[in-house]
Amino acid sequence: MTDEKLRETLLAHIHDVPDYPKPGVMFKDITPLLADAKAFGLLTDTFAELCERLGATKVVGLEARGFILGAPAAVRAGIGFIPVRKAGKLPGACLAQSYELEYGTAEIEMHADAVGPGDRVLVIDDVLATGGTAEAALQLIRRAGAEVAGVAVLMELGFLDGRRRLAEGLGDAPLEAL
Ligand code: AMP
Repeated sequence: MTDEKLRETLLAHIHDVPDYPKPGVMFKDITPLLADAKAFGLLTDTFAELCERLGATKVVGLEARGFILGAPAAVRAGIGFIPVRKAGKLPGACLAQSYELEYGTAEIEMHADAVGPGDRVLVIDDVLATGGTAEAALQLIRRAGAEVAGVAVLMELGFLDGRRRLAEGLGDAPLEAL
């Protein structure tokens, strides 16, 4: 399948919901894509191929939709899946990273022993908006001693310039927006 055909198929299964969860936000709803086995399978295959191409040894999924997209891709690629969660949700010893939001700050965590030296980690999420969450995840991965293989998202909201925010954390690794 060509990149253009893939893009068309994925876009056909993503619904734009205006003013959700608050006025002025165009929410990208991926639930129709998840409900379609063919489209979800295609997305999973594409993320899994990316894992293989980038030589990833682990997938990090960002809560919550990054879990849904990242976990099947990791299984298909034959590598482990690591959840990065909002603070206070993981039971073991964690590394925590806070990051700036438009108003205030947020914090995410990863189990401290989840990845380490020798790992190459691909971060998967549904939407890259400001890039704050993914940037914090890249910091966690590097602090754990692992290498960043890249960031892969279904959609990038280009006008929010998340790509620029990720530039330093990515280094030479790619940001792939399907
Ligand atoms: P950010 O840290 O600003 O890049 O936000 C990324 C997170 O917020 C992702 O985990 C997305 O699931 C979610 N998100 C942000 N904007 C949207 C949107 N317009 N539609 C759906 N999800 C969004």
